[in-house]
Amino acid sequence: MTNFIPQTDPRANYLAHAGEIDAAIAATLQAGHYILGQQTKAFEEEFAAYLGIKHAIGVGSGTEALHIALRACGIGAGDGVVTVSHTAVATVAAIELAGAIPLFADIDPDYFILDCERLDGALSRHTGPKPKAVIAVHLYGHPVDMPALMEVAARHDLIVIEDCAQSHGAVVGGRKTGTWGQAAAFSFYPTKNLGALGDGGAVVTRDPALAERIRMLREYGWRERYISDIPGMNTRLDELQAAVLRVKLRHLDADNARRQRIASAYRAGLAGAAVQLPPVRTGIHHAYHQFVVRFGERDALRERLRAAEIGTLVHYPAPVHLQPAYKGRIAALGALSATEQAARTVLSLPMFPELHPDQVERVIKAIENAT
Ligand SMILES: *Cc1c(COP(=O)(O)O)cnc(C)c1O
Repeated sequence: MTNFIPQTDPRANYLAHAGEIDAAIAATLQAGHYILGQQTKAFEEEFAAYLGIKHAIGVGSGTEALHIALRACGIGAGDGVVTVSHTAVATVAAIELAGAIPLFADIDPDYFILDCERLDGALSRHTGPKPKAVIAVHLYGHPVDMPALMEVAARHDLIVIEDCAQSHGAVVGGRKTGTWGQAAAFSFYPTKNLGALGDGGAVVTRDPALAERIRMLREYGWRERYISDIPGMNTRLDELQAAVLRVKLRHLDADNARRQRIASAYRAGLAGAAVQLPPVRTGIHHAYHQFVVRFGERDALRERLRAAEIGTLVHYPAPVHLQPAYKGRIAALGALSATEQAARTVLSLPMFPELHPDQVERVIKAIENAT
């Protein structure tokens, strides 16, 4: 038994619900239908009901969910899509998979997410081709100010797509993330707040026509089997992952409440510490996918925590526009200074529902000793 505290621990979440998960997997194996059967259909209905939206469509990953959300919204070759550079590279990869052109906007320096007020100004001054859509990334589980973004989008005639890969269960303006835009993408990568035991994702929308297009796109453009009405692809959520997700969805609110309690303990314990704590906008419900502190000598702090057997991660060490695959070829709506500043200073502390209060105390003590 090691003393090491990991930054995230998907195995602990499996073990917490192992009885139910093992039974669900065994039943699915016996049912003998492994792709787009009863489990996927039931999960889609249950996940849509959880969010309070009409349609959920299971797909192969969060990246594919973003990709087909864009394509279903009619975004393709040459269309500009505004998003942030302080995100998982998947957000930007999906834009280019759809044939569209990313256009970066800076983040709010306090909340690490799209700065809607600055976006409005930047779009008004923008002289290049008018972008067609915006992807709002609810990074770390802190929702983008969606009521404000919907106004900005209406003013500039933008389709809104939400990247909810880190915000399962987060609420803004009285509604869950994923219910604001024309469509939203979720990832069920094992470490996400709602995580499968493999890859998985979903697109959600309230628009029935859009939902039908997404269903067609995920399976070769079929409305009727073996007849492609539109060119599509193959990106399906499989039955085993859907069965696991149905179990985990039942525990999502309780698991998110555990994340909340861990965040509160960090806030109380680190109130006087040298690290900067993440502020939370009033009136929102944070999903705490990550608890991200800021510190000038981030890398040195990381090393000292590692020596104290505490795992941390940096989300993300390089903004997308400075990574080799993208550097120098993606336009931006003005300077990305808050984005670049964040990449230098952010540090994600251990955060997962099964993290024990004693372990949280150890992290707090170790940070006090190290700063
Ligand atoms: C994880 C993640 C994705 C991609 O999801 P995958 O299921 O890994 O393809 C997209 N956007 C964000 C913000 C993510 O954190």
